[in-house]
Amino acid sequence: MKDCIFCKIATHEIPSEIIYENESHVAFLDINPTTEGMTVVVPKKHFDSDFYSNDAEIICAIMSAARNTAQLLKEKLGCERVLTSIEGMEINHLHVKLYPYYENRSVEDTFRKNEGSLPTKEELRELADKIRS
Ligand SMILES: [Zn+2]
Repeated sequence: MKDCIFCKIATHEIPSEIIYENESHVAFLDINPTTEGMTVVVPKKHFDSDFYSNDAEIICAIMSAARNTAQLLKEKLGCERVLTSIEGMEINHLHVKLYPYYENRSVEDTFRKNEGSLPTKEELRELADKIRS
């Protein structure tokens, strides 16, 4: 869809740190993470972000991509588990957010909006390289 930022990220029209990609989905590092390695999973095709308004097969496909990405995050970042939110707000393109959960942080802090300094482009690239390696 024209003017949809997630469509443009999915087609590589807008650069992002993509850490996982299959034939139908991409997963990229959030530029405003609440926890190290926070990732957004999106389908390459444009679907409404109102999660349960989509067909079950579309939901199953994005959750399968989210699961693969979560396993990658867990393996490469050593987080205890990966938390998930599917609120579907802000950008109207179907998406699932993944939050690596580390033992030394609370669940609340893992989800809390970042009030401190954001990672630089270089820091995000380094983290993406670590996950992609
Ligand atoms: Zn879109």
